[in-house]
Amino acid sequence: MPDPRYWRKPFDSDKVKSPKGVVYVIKDRCKGCGFCVEFCPRGVLVLSVEFNKKGYHPPEVVHPDRCVNCDLCERICPEFAIYSLNQDEIIELAP
Ligand code: SF4
Ligand code: SF4
Repeated sequence: MPDPRYWRKPFDSDKVKSPKGVVYVIKDRCKGCGFCVEFCPRGVLVLSVEFNKKGYHPPEVVHPDRCVNCDLCERICPEFAIYSLNQDEIIELAP
């Protein structure tokens, strides 16, 4: 069932390709506020059951395929503990 927050389909959705994001979490910076989980428009994240060094539950990526690199999680995080990168712009470093 589609997310009810996004029930409208844009008229040009068959012509526009959404960007694909890759999410990175700096777990030990997180204070477990849940903003990124609550406000991600694509439902990419949940708070994990693990504890970080501060004793909080950092977010976990549960739907990596849904991320569109909108940067909202990065902008909303008060601890600078999460960010995303455009998958097409990630350069794989040679070992
Ligand atoms: S970049 Fe956007 S879609 Fe991806 S996890 Fe962050 S808020 Fe969600
Ligand atoms: S917004 Fe930042 S501090 Fe809050 S849960 Fe997400 S990563 Fe942690």
